[in-house]
Amino acid sequence: MARWTGSRVTADRAYWAGRILQAASIGKPLLCPFCDAPMALEVPWDIDHDEKRIDGGALGRANQRPAHRACNRADGARVGNTRRSRARRRIR
Ligand SMILES: [Zn+2]
Repeated sequence: MARWTGSRVTADRAYWAGRILQAASIGKPLLCPFCDAPMALEVPWDIDHDEKRIDGGALGRANQRPAHRACNRADGARVGNTRRSRARRRIR
């Protein structure tokens, strides 16, 4: 998957994989920001950005959080739909 071939992204994933493992090992797992279920490396996950990049959110780990891949992608689709319907309203 081309999306994850950049070295910066790989380093960020390694960092968050470590955080997920460490949090789980002390009994305080990181929670998915969308469904509030604990993050686990066994479940596919992505790095989500607290502020979406399209809204000018800064890059960097302060703005990152791991989220289930399925939850993250469903949320992205919702944002896209909202934007499209807003744009349609403005035209009228
Ligand atoms: Zn989730």
